[in-house]
Amino acid sequence: MTPAAQAAPAPVADPKPPELRLPKNVRPVRYAVELTVVPTQDTFQGKMDIELEVAEATSLIWLNATELKVSSAQLSAGGNTVAARSVPGGADFVGFAFDKPVAPGAARLSVSYEGVIDKERTQGLYREKEKDTWYAYTVFEPVDARRVFPCFDEPHYKVPWRLSLRVRAGDVALANAPVESQGTPAADGMKLVTFAETPPFPSYLIAFVVGPFDVVDAGTFGRAKTPLRFIVPQGRREELAYALKSTARLVTALEDYFDMPYPFTKLDVAVVPRYRGTMEHPGLVAIGQPLALISPKEETLERRQWYDRTTLHELAHYWFGDLVTMEWWDDLWLNESSASWLEAKLIDKLEPSWKEPEDRLGEQLFALQTDGLASSHPIRQSITSRTDFESAFDNSITYFKGSSVLGMFESWMGEETFRRGLQRYMRQYAGKTTTAKELLAALSAESGRDVAAAMSTFLDQPGAPVVSVDLQCDKGQAPRLKLSQTRFFANKPQGTPPAQHWQIPICVRYGGTGPQGRACTLLTEPTGELVLSEAKACPTWVFANEDARGYYRVAYSEPLRQQLVKANLKPLTPRERGAMLADLRSFASAGQFPVAEALAMAPGLLKEQDRASTEAGVAMLSLLRPDVLPDAWMPHYERVLQKLVVPRAKALGWKDRPGEDEDTRKLRNQLLWFATLYGKDPSLLAEARTLAKAWLEDPSVVSPDRVGTLLSSAASVGDRAFFDALVSKARKEQQPEKRGMLFYALGNFRDPALVREALGLMMDGTFPLRDSWGLLFGVINKRQTRPIGYAFLKENFDKLTAGLGASEAQGLFNVPGFFCDKAARDDAQAFFTPRASHVDGAPLVLTRSLERADLCISAWERDQAAITGFLKRY
Ligand SMILES: [Zn+2]
Repeated sequence: MTPAAQAAPAPVADPKPPELRLPKNVRPVRYAVELTVVPTQDTFQGKMDIELEVAEATSLIWLNATELKVSSAQLSAGGNTVAARSVPGGADFVGFAFDKPVAPGAARLSVSYEGVIDKERTQGLYREKEKDTWYAYTVFEPVDARRVFPCFDEPHYKVPWRLSLRVRAGDVALANAPVESQGTPAADGMKLVTFAETPPFPSYLIAFVVGPFDVVDAGTFGRAKTPLRFIVPQGRREELAYALKSTARLVTALEDYFDMPYPFTKLDVAVVPRYRGTMEHPGLVAIGQPLALISPKEETLERRQWYDRTTLHELAHYWFGDLVTMEWWDDLWLNESSASWLEAKLIDKLEPSWKEPEDRLGEQLFALQTDGLASSHPIRQSITSRTDFESAFDNSITYFKGSSVLGMFESWMGEETFRRGLQRYMRQYAGKTTTAKELLAALSAESGRDVAAAMSTFLDQPGAPVVSVDLQCDKGQAPRLKLSQTRFFANKPQGTPPAQHWQIPICVRYGGTGPQGRACTLLTEPTGELVLSEAKACPTWVFANEDARGYYRVAYSEPLRQQLVKANLKPLTPRERGAMLADLRSFASAGQFPVAEALAMAPGLLKEQDRASTEAGVAMLSLLRPDVLPDAWMPHYERVLQKLVVPRAKALGWKDRPGEDEDTRKLRNQLLWFATLYGKDPSLLAEARTLAKAWLEDPSVVSPDRVGTLLSSAASVGDRAFFDALVSKARKEQQPEKRGMLFYALGNFRDPALVREALGLMMDGTFPLRDSWGLLFGVINKRQTRPIGYAFLKENFDKLTAGLGASEAQGLFNVPGFFCDKAARDDAQAFFTPRASHVDGAPLVLTRSLERADLCISAWERDQAAITGFLKRY
C-alpha cells in the first residue's frame, strides 16, 4: 500500500470530528481484519478491510478509533482505488479524506495501523503475566473495540467479522468463531490463524486470546451437542474441577428456558486473569480466574455460587445481548436487567437449597435505596456524552432495579405468559437489534394486556413509589384497602418535585381468624382501592407486597403496622420480613418514622435466630450513625454491640462447624465483622489475632470464606510484626484478587504510622494499583483513619486516576459520601467537582455521594436526641 502522506495533498484545515455518534452517511457491511499480536510486546499491528455501504456521496468517512496510529489507508469503489488521508479525530475518532467524493454504493476501505497493548487497566487488547509467561486478552464493552479496530463502534452496526491473527508458532489463538485454517510457521517464527466468519455481531462483542494456553476439552452439551472447552494459563487445569462439572447444566437451563438451542457453534470459556474482564463474548465467554479457577481446598459454597451466578449471567447474554442486541446504550437494561433477572431465576431452579430469592432481596433493597435519592436516574437512561457510557453500567439501577422490575411484571403476567413473550421476542429478533419498544410489544402481545404502558412507568422515570395502605372494614361490606402512591425521597428535595405516579402491580396477603388469602390489582392512579372480596371477616393483618416481589415501598397505617409488629412479623416470609424492616429503617432514616421506635426494634430482632431478622437488626443499628457519633458516645455504642451482637458472634465463633446450614455461615461473617471492628470485643479480637497468625503459616486453619473478615479484624488490633507479615504475604501472592484482599486488610490497621506506610505501598510501583486500591477504602471507611486516607487521596489523585481503569477511577468519587459534617462535605465538593468531568462515569457517582453526605448531615441534626436517648441505656 502507498503511504497516505506521499499520495494525498497537504491538508488545508482538518474538519471537526463528530461529537458522540458517527454520522449515518456510511455504514459497514462486513469486516475482515488481520492482527499481529505478540503478548510480550507493548504494541500490535493491524490491517483492516471494511466493506461499506455509502448512502450519500462523501469525501470524508469517520470511524471510531482510540490511540491507533494509521500508517496508510485506501478506498476502493467503482473499480478505482484511491489513497485516503487520515484526519485526526481526538480521543474517539479518525477520519479518512479523499480528493474526490465517493459515490453512493458499495466501497471498501483498507487501513494499516498500529495500536497499544494495555498492561494496567484491563481495557481493549491487554496483556498479563502469569509465572513469567505473558498472555493477551481482550475486553471491549462498551467503547474499547475502537482501541483495536478502526471501526463503527456502536452496537446497532451488527455485521459479520472475519478475523486472522498472526501469532508466535507456540501460541494458541482463539476468537469468537472456530479456527478455519492454521498456517505453518514462517521463517520469522510466526503463523497465521484464520477464523471462520462470525454471524452479525456488534464490535463490543468481538474477542480473541493469544498465548501458550492449556486448552481443556470438556466434551459437548445441549440440544446441538455443542463442543465445550476451557482456556487456562499453563498449569492451572486442576483448578477447573467445579467449572467442568457445572457449566453444561447452566447452558442447558438457558436452552430450556428459551426452548431454543444454544445460538452459536462452539463454547470456549476463556479464563481471564481478573474478575474485571469477565464478559459475554459469543463463542468465547470470558470468565475471571477468581470465579472459574477453584483449588480443591477452596471449593466452598460461596465459590460455587459465585461461579454459577456469574457464568449463568454471562451466558444469559448470549440471548439478551448477543443474539438480540440493543440499538444503543440507553437500552443497556435489555442486556443487564434481563440477564440479572434470569440468572437469579434459573439458579433458584437449579439449586433451590441455596435460597436464591432470599439472597437477592438485598439487591432490590440496594436499588430502592439509590432510587430514594433525588439524583437517581431512570432504568432507560439517555446516553448523550462520553461520560455516560460508564454511568450506564450502574449496578443499583441498570442491574438490580431492572431485574426487580422484570420480576414484578413476570409475577403480574404469570411466569408462563412472560416466558412465551420472551420466546416470541427472541425468535422475532434473532440476529437483529431492538429497543425497549420491541420487547414490551412482545410481552403485550402474549399477555393481551398493555404491558408497555405499565412497565414504561418504571423504565422511563426515576425513583420508586411508596404505597400507603389503610384497611377499612365496614359492616355488610367486604373489607377494602385504601391505596395511594407517591415518590419516596430519602431526603426532602428542594422545591416541589414534579408529581409522579406509576402503574404498580400490587399483590397483598392477609390473615385472621379464617384461612389466609391474597388479592391483586394494578394501581394506575395516584389513589385506588383493593377489595378483599374473598375475605370472610376483617383481617387481623395485611401485608401489601407479596413475597416482596413488587418494586415499591409500603407505608402502613398505624393500626396495620402495629398488627404486624404485634404478630412479631411471624406470618411473613423471610423476604417479606426483610422488605418491611428495610422500609421502616428507610422511613426512619428519612424522618418519616420515629428513629427511637425503629431502634427499639433492634434488640428483639437480634434475639431472633433467623437470618432475615438478624440482618435487619444489624441494619437498624446503623441508625445510630457510628460514623459521626461524638467520641464521648462511642463507649455506649460499643456496649450496644457487646450486648446485642457479640454473644451471637461468640456462639458462632470463627470456625465453621460440620452440618451447619448456609444461613448460619452467612451470618457468621456479618456478626463477626460487627462484633470485632465495631464492637471491639477483646476476646474475639484476641482469637482473630492468633488465628490470623496461624493462617499465615497454614491457610487451612479457617474457611476461605472467612479469611477477609479474619484478617481485617486482626489488623484492627495488629502490630508492626503482623503488618510486615501481611505485606510479605502480599508480595508473594500471585493471584490478583487474593492480593486485593490482603491489601484491604492492610487498610484496617489503626496506628497512623502503619496506615501511612500501607498507603505508601500503593504508590511505590511494586504492586499494580488496581490490586492495591481497596486499601484506600479500608482506610477511609473508618472514622479514626479517614482524614489520613482523604489527605492521601487528594495528594495522589492524578496518579491514582491515571493508573486505574474507568470503572475503578469513578469509584474514587464515592469518597464524599463517607463524610457527615458540612465542612468536610464542602471541602470534598470543592475538590472533586472540577475533577469529575475528566473521569468517565464520575459526575453521576459524585452527585450521588454528595447527596448521601447531605442526607447524613441532616439526619444527624434531626435524630441526635433520639440516638443518644437510645445509647444512654447502654
Ligand atoms: Zn451482564
